[in-house]
Amino acid sequence: MSIGFQQRERCPLCDSGNNRLLCDIAYSDRRLANYLEQFYRGRVALDLLQSASYRVALCEDCGFVFQDSILNDKGMQALYEDWIDQEQSLQRKQSADSTRYRQYAGQIQTLAGLLKRRPDQSRILDYGMGWGYWSRMAQAHGFDVVGFELSKQRSEHARQMGITVIDSLPATEAGFDFVYANQVFEHLPDPVQALQDICRQLKPGGIVYLRVPDGRGVAARLEQQGWSPELEAIHPLEHINCFTRKTLQGFASEAGLKPFNPPLRLSWGNLWDGIRRELADRLLTTHLFFRYQ
Ligand SMILES: [Zn+2]
Repeated sequence: MSIGFQQRERCPLCDSGNNRLLCDIAYSDRRLANYLEQFYRGRVALDLLQSASYRVALCEDCGFVFQDSILNDKGMQALYEDWIDQEQSLQRKQSADSTRYRQYAGQIQTLAGLLKRRPDQSRILDYGMGWGYWSRMAQAHGFDVVGFELSKQRSEHARQMGITVIDSLPATEAGFDFVYANQVFEHLPDPVQALQDICRQLKPGGIVYLRVPDGRGVAARLEQQGWSPELEAIHPLEHINCFTRKTLQGFASEAGLKPFNPPLRLSWGNLWDGIRRELADRLLTTHLFFRYQ
């Protein structure tokens, strides 16, 4: 197979064929080509994209926004292994300041409160683990963690940090208490299949955390003003699925997942910011906890 494109003619969430095109720009368009050239620091094979277009569609039935022309398997492999600068990505992780680590630790503290069990008796799957830093933090808190990652470079790095890594999900029931999927679902050609696979790994009553870029307002903006590089949630080639809180909840609900709010995390030292964050998390954002029914 050579690098090319495949079409998603039906809505990847609800399978409707009732889709409206919001945007259609050839990859040979100078503005788009320049942007990609810069973003991937000259590593993207622009000549292979020449005959294809950056196309964004809106499903009239469920409201999902998605790219209907996406790289084929070979193309995705090239994108994630070669075009994205792995060294730069790793460096960015390694040079992250303490805020990042405090955020991870905070998420894991919240999780510890939700699971209500000794950490070493709780099994966690980090789905689309990346370089393994979140897994390492969960492991440091005593959890039994397994990371799922397709990229060889990333999984090898995680392994060297002591994380147990798998490159395919267990065929038999694995019995995880929690699945963490941070910034994964915006990248997947078949998100429904992936979420079903995850749910099969969960114990009854198990918890899933899904975090995706916030696609609020993206459809209107594309339609009224056209594409611009700031529309990060529908980034060409990579962010092929663009969720809002509503479409994320609908998507999860189809898989048997029910959203719930974790307990409030407010402290006197930072009360106003805390209230603002809690309100946003409960009403607007695209990072949610779900329980598997
Ligand atoms: Zn749909």
